[in-house]
This record gives sequence, structure tokens and C-alpha cells, in this order.
Amino acid sequence: MKFNTKTIHGGQEHDKAYGAVMPPIYQTSTYAQSTPGGHKGFEYSRSQNPTRHALEKALASIENGAFGLAFGSGLAAIDAVMKLLNPGDEVISTNDLYGGSYRLFTSIFERFGIKFHFVGMQDAANIENYVNSNTKLIWVETPTNPMMHIIDIKATAAIAKKHNLILAVDNTFATPYLQRPLELGADIVMHSATKYLGGHSDVVMGALVVKDKDLADKLYFIQNASGAVCGPQDSFLVLRGIKTLHIRMQRHCENGRAVATYLNNHPKIEKVYWPGFENHPNHDVAKTQMADFGGMVSFTTKGNSYEDAIKIVENLKIFTLAESLGGVESLAGHPASMTHASIPKEEREKTGVVDSLIRLSVGIEDEADLLEDLKQAIG
Ligand SMILES: *Cc1c(COP(=O)(O)O)cnc(C)c1O
Repeated sequence: MKFNTKTIHGGQEHDKAYGAVMPPIYQTSTYAQSTPGGHKGFEYSRSQNPTRHALEKALASIENGAFGLAFGSGLAAIDAVMKLLNPGDEVISTNDLYGGSYRLFTSIFERFGIKFHFVGMQDAANIENYVNSNTKLIWVETPTNPMMHIIDIKATAAIAKKHNLILAVDNTFATPYLQRPLELGADIVMHSATKYLGGHSDVVMGALVVKDKDLADKLYFIQNASGAVCGPQDSFLVLRGIKTLHIRMQRHCENGRAVATYLNNHPKIEKVYWPGFENHPNHDVAKTQMADFGGMVSFTTKGNSYEDAIKIVENLKIFTLAESLGGVESLAGHPASMTHASIPKEEREKTGVVDSLIRLSVGIEDEADLLEDLKQAIG
């Protein structure tokens, strides 16, 4: 089955009771048993829920994995991955990553004795400098947030394999429409399904997809034992979102390209970060591992003034100033004061998150309206 068919049919079957084409929302916490243990495979909705399972099968299908697991948020999904580890274990992580992931790693898991190395991975060979006998996991985000660095998943997978490490990839920005890390050798794919998979800014959810049965069993145990599952209503919404993922992503990419090109030619703009530009440092890797370049675009203004950046995001009318990304509507964010405010200034500036940096999640509105909005806001 091709990807554009999988988004609609992958892992899905029609409802057995009445033939409903869409899976029913099984809004139930528990299931009747005829005798103790006499049930239909469903006992309690933390452990099993038919609507969540329908979503989990769709997730596995679109990532070309074997097992999907859905969680109450993207961070809950990352939390489950980190619970594979033990005190003393070490993780090598992308240095330019989602602020909430950084906070989870440093403020929670470091307290439990797990050590994190935040490393520039644009040259994958650099990862190997941090591998030692305690290393267990490599955490990759690509494209990175918000600097749009590209990390070579295949090259990283080779390093992981050589040292017997788990490679986990946060695929939130790219989505499986653009990039499928399991096909490139990753062990775990993670999503904030809040973003493109849900696609309509109406739900918070996370997901993991794996190929290996043992790894799936361990993660399922953690999902059930720690309990950060998502509800049936939210599962339904994300399942519905996935059905239009391919056509939404196509438009996100087209509009992303138009916005990146417009900004790149604007006299008041200093630098535009978008992996589709030929002079992007890892454009060649992006071209190989991604089908297109996505709808996320970051830029800085000439003079790098905090006040100028604030004025631009306040002036935007179609782009809404808001956290998050990946919905049908265009959003603008100011990482230094919003998503990355939890990262100390010296740390974030080292990775390029300077005061004038603005991050756009380019939506699927009409391109001309988006460009017009940027024009009036930048002045
Ligand atoms: C939003 C986001 C997360 C966290 O997901 P939540 O659903 O907000 O918990 C993780 N990684 C990336 C890249 C994100 O954009």
C-alpha cells in the first residue's frame, strides 16, 4: 500500500458491530466480563481501548513500523522512552531540541541518575566522541527546533548499531509524509501528535512507533504501568487528522517554500532557516532523507533586536502568535520568550536561538494572503 492510501486505510477495519466506516469512540473505562477473566481482550481502558488501538495501528502503518503506542502528550511519549533506562545510563541528545524535551531530560531524568550529553549532530561523526560503556540511547530531533538543522538519520543509525545503542527519532516536524526514520535504521519514532498528525490544533497527544517486538513489549509495559495514555475521543480526532495528512503536508510544503523564498529576498531579514535552500549546510542530507522540506521556517531580522521581533509577531494578522505548530492555520512564535524560555539564555544563544529569531509554522491558507501578511507585519 502506498503512503497516501495508508493514511486513510492503514491498519483500519470497519466496525464489526454495525459496519461503521469510522471507528466508534469507545468512551468507556471498563468492559463486562462473563466470568473472572472472561472478556474479549479488553479489561480496562488504560491497558486496552479499541479506539486507541485503531489509532495505534494507523500510526504503525504510516511510519512503516509494526507497533504503535499512543500517549496523553508528546512529552508523555518521550517520558516512556526514557523509562527504558536505568540510573547510570547515558543519553546522547541533539543540542538544538524542543525546549520541553530538554526540560524533561535535565529537570526530571537527571535527578534519577541518567546523564545527558547535548551534542551538535549536523556532523554525525561527532556523536561517536560521546559514546562510552554507559551510553544506551541516542535521541535525535530532525529537522531541529527551531534552527532547522538536519541530522543524517542513516549515518546516526550506523553509529547506534555499531555500539548497540537504541536510536530514537523525534519525527514531529517532518511527519512520515516527509521522512520515515524506521526505514533509515532508527529503533523508535516519536511524535507530538499534537502537531501535524492531529493537524487541527484541537488535541494534545504523543506517539511512539517501533518495529521490534521486544522493544514494543517493554514500551507497552511502561505505557500501561505508568499510565500516560490518551483518551478515546482524542484518539478519534488524531485518527481523523491522519486521514488528510498527505494533502495537508503537500500544501504545508508548498506554502513553506513560498514563505521561505519571500523572507530570503526581504531587505530587513538577516537569515532564513529552511532546509530547502541549496546553501543550507545539510541540504544534501535533507534531500536524501526527506521527500520535501516541510512548513517550518525560522528567521532573524537585521540588527537582531528583541523589540523588532516582538513588533513583527504582534503585527501579524493571519499568522496567530501562539505556541505549537503543525495545524492547518499559520502560527508564529518567538522562541526566546516562548517555547525556549526554559533554556538558559547562554545555552540557547549557543544554538542560535537569538533574541530576534521568529519561528513560523506555515499553514495551508492561500499563499498570497500569507505573503501579504508577512509584508505588512515586517514593514
Ligand atoms: C511539541 C513538541 C514536543 C512535545 O509534545 P507535546 O505534545 O507538547 O507534549 C516534542 N517534540 C517536538 C519537536 C515538539 O514540537
